[in-house]
Amino acid sequence: MKAVCWHGANDVRVDTVPDPKILNPRDAIIKITSTAICGSDLHLYDGFIPTMKSGDILGHEFMGEVVELGSAVKNVQIGDRVVVPFTISCGNCFFCQRDLWSLCDNSNPNGWIAEKMYGHSPAGLFGYSHMLGGYAGGQAEYARVPFADVGLLKIPDGLADEQVLFLTDIFPTGYMAAENCNIQPGDTVAVWGCGPVGQFAIKSAYMLGAHRVIAIDRIPERLQMAKEQGKAEVLNYEEVDVGEALKEMTGGRGPDACLDAVGMEAHGTDAMAFYDKAKQAVRLETDRPTALRQVLVACRKGGNVSLAGVYGGFLDKVPMGAAFNKGLTFKMGQTHVHRYLRPLLERVQNGEIDPSFVITHKMSLEDAPKGYEIFKHKKDNCIKVVLKP
Ligand code: NAD
Ligand code: ZN
Repeated sequence: MKAVCWHGANDVRVDTVPDPKILNPRDAIIKITSTAICGSDLHLYDGFIPTMKSGDILGHEFMGEVVELGSAVKNVQIGDRVVVPFTISCGNCFFCQRDLWSLCDNSNPNGWIAEKMYGHSPAGLFGYSHMLGGYAGGQAEYARVPFADVGLLKIPDGLADEQVLFLTDIFPTGYMAAENCNIQPGDTVAVWGCGPVGQFAIKSAYMLGAHRVIAIDRIPERLQMAKEQGKAEVLNYEEVDVGEALKEMTGGRGPDACLDAVGMEAHGTDAMAFYDKAKQAVRLETDRPTALRQVLVACRKGGNVSLAGVYGGFLDKVPMGAAFNKGLTFKMGQTHVHRYLRPLLERVQNGEIDPSFVITHKMSLEDAPKGYEIFKHKKDNCIKVVLKP
């Protein structure tokens, strides 16, 4: 089959690779009909994640048709159209039982790497390096889905791929990030980053009762989408002092909640620098504006800080004094996608939201290298790329 493979920083290629096979009775094989490129894929593309190997298949936002099933999978049938959550979860462990799916104890066979770095291992993810399980991703014609009896969401007839594809990741991610803001009536939520995740965070903040959403970015078309689709007030961080502007807009008090939908992109991070390989791969960008630092300083006293943006390794010069002295509450992490699949599918079905608003580019799988390039550099007004194998 054809698959999008990582060959190093800024080097993805469409290779011919062996078809996936059922390895476990709980597996399914999915023939992929739609798959997207995510801001998280850019961390791999940038070379920020050291445990990638040349030839690894990328992609964690995908859906398609069930074409083969292990003997233990009873919840779906061959021919069903399904969405696949990006986090892989067993459904039975301490964490899955507590609705903490992205912290599953049984889905990361290489958990020892993360344990060494972080003390504990999170769940395995599709297409996201050997540290997170080494699973082949879904930017391909077919993919093997482990624990298919737990993760697969069957899609009812009448919904297009584009309306449900983002249940795999960015819609639940924006939604959980907004939930983590603990929004109260009358609240103002500030969202850093108007990429796909930020766009869903803005919409979700309103769904969860925010009175005002203020969105921050520098890319005009992303700010415009936040304004038109998301009904947010917007700030261009290259044009205004974000901290001052937010103070002014909130009567000097600051936003009630601050949500970081940027992550490592903007940071002087020495993520995983104790891996020699990473030392070469990670560029230090200490002079760039950093969303997280602004978030902590801008948030009002007693406010909530929600991090959807991905961080790895260490982060320098985080103003913990601001966080401590203002009594901030922090929530963060990989999304517990399984928790949100059905409730958010319902919101799509009843017409509350059409997640396809975020798509700016549809391309063939063969065009993936171009897709990565324009998405990374925000060329051609690119906000979200969907690939059609
Ligand atoms: P993206 O790269 O398209 O969007 C990031 C946006 O942030 C860009 O529009 C960029 O211009 C903007 N930005 C950069 N620096 C900024 C700053 N200082 N202030 C304000 N805006 C700034 O990516 P995306 O797909 O929207 O993903 C965003 C983040 O969410 C990434 O870190 C991604 O890894 C993460 N993510 C997390 C999860 C999760 O489970 N928590 C899931 C999916 C994605
Ligand atoms: Zn993603």
